[in-house]
Amino acid sequence: MTHSHLSPAECAALSGLTVYPRSVSVAAAGAVYFLGRDAGGLRQLGIVQPGSAPLDPATCGLDRTVSFDGQVWAVRLCPADARHAAVLRAALPHLRPQPLGLSTSVGLGDRLGRATPGHVRAVQGTAPGASVTPVFAQQSIRENARTGRTPQQVIDDATWGLFQEGWRAPWGADADHLKTPADIDVCAAAGFTMYTIDPGDHVDNTVQSASPSDLRDRFHALPWNTLEDSPSALDARYQDRVFEFGDLVFKLDVLTLVRAAAKYGRAIAHVTVMARHLAQVMGDHPYEVEVSVDETETPTSPAEHVYIATELRRLGVQWASLAPRFVGRFEKGVDYIGDPSMDSGQALAEFEAEFAQHAAIAWHLGPYKLSLHSGSDKFSIYPIAARHTEGLIHVKTAGTSYLEALRTIARVDPALFRDILALARAHYEADRASYHVSADVGRVPPPEVLRDDELPALLDDFHAREVLHVTFGSALDVYGDRLRAVLDAHEETYYAALEAHLGRHLAPFAA
Ligand SMILES: [Zn+2]
Repeated sequence: MTHSHLSPAECAALSGLTVYPRSVSVAAAGAVYFLGRDAGGLRQLGIVQPGSAPLDPATCGLDRTVSFDGQVWAVRLCPADARHAAVLRAALPHLRPQPLGLSTSVGLGDRLGRATPGHVRAVQGTAPGASVTPVFAQQSIRENARTGRTPQQVIDDATWGLFQEGWRAPWGADADHLKTPADIDVCAAAGFTMYTIDPGDHVDNTVQSASPSDLRDRFHALPWNTLEDSPSALDARYQDRVFEFGDLVFKLDVLTLVRAAAKYGRAIAHVTVMARHLAQVMGDHPYEVEVSVDETETPTSPAEHVYIATELRRLGVQWASLAPRFVGRFEKGVDYIGDPSMDSGQALAEFEAEFAQHAAIAWHLGPYKLSLHSGSDKFSIYPIAARHTEGLIHVKTAGTSYLEALRTIARVDPALFRDILALARAHYEADRASYHVSADVGRVPPPEVLRDDELPALLDDFHAREVLHVTFGSALDVYGDRLRAVLDAHEETYYAALEAHLGRHLAPFAA
């Protein structure tokens, strides 16, 4: 008899590997692909095919012929490397990322390249029917530098994780916080489908305190050629224009307009240049754009949002999501802080009032999705975000998956966790510089005063979370290999931690 499909047990018998059962997939020409581990624990792509026809020439590895179940099989064991990640995406189309459009989506950044199977389980567990679409590959150029990974490795690690776990539905790949055309080029070559353009370096956060004449000077000094505009033409377009977004009525008076332009005009010019470059690079390949000004000092007011969206549209930029800088303090890996001078109820009310306006603007000037960055662990604002966007939302998480890796390490290898904690305490003051965090390292106990069974609880402490979060680059420099080896040896523990923790992120948006 001829098999059209093989069971995981048959794949194991043919290959000698310990097979990940959900990875078994049938490709063209009846070849069966699966992921397994050899006796040394090394991941291998197994390919088996009945008969003596040649195997896919794009692959390479150890070949043998096996007689099994009354017929001859060609078996090839290939290294789980970049070449074979590309082979998998060619052979199994569901392993290619794609644009997600306006579907409710969550970005699941993975700094270690080990988290995707856990992310898959979180999505499958919380969002049956795929009501939340996942972005399984998501990393900024800055994070790539700190983790020592390339954009191609980010895509490849997601590819292997999805293959391992048998994911077959649409997924996205977000090249996050791109600042230059060169950033776009390297991510396009790696096959990303979502491009987050970050013009934050071109936002003037000091306009609020500028004098009227200073403001006028800055306004006139904008790159009007790139903006295909002039001060008088801009004035004229907004003079009598009334924006109606449901109950919300907007008119941008002259001062508001001049201030918005002085603050964001250069950013709009930069986004336009980036978006046109991206269009040229991508050609016929499908992709989508996010515009992100979240990593700036001052909040984006609803009026500024109106200005940004209206001007980008005039310049022909198209985007699927936009990340304003929302009001209040957003810090990495911890819940929403808001305005520290308010109690938490007031801060949430302020957030909700502003967020509702941004959501109305995104609906009427788009529709496009609002994007919530630094989304990790912002549990208190998720219900607000879900309610006001009615599904037009994208949430980005990243550091939280690294912290779940550390929670796993704290449970299974206390000695390594103690080393990482000591290093984090030593590096925090230097490493915090480029992040929005307020933790006091003095409130994080040194490893020597803690018993082993007290270590995992640090991952529930505000100060310890931030200190461990922003030092990930330093920790990976020194302990990356050990950390990955321990996670590989305890992968089910890590996946379970991710499933539980990311499930809490997904649930509010899955309804
Ligand atoms: Zn961001």
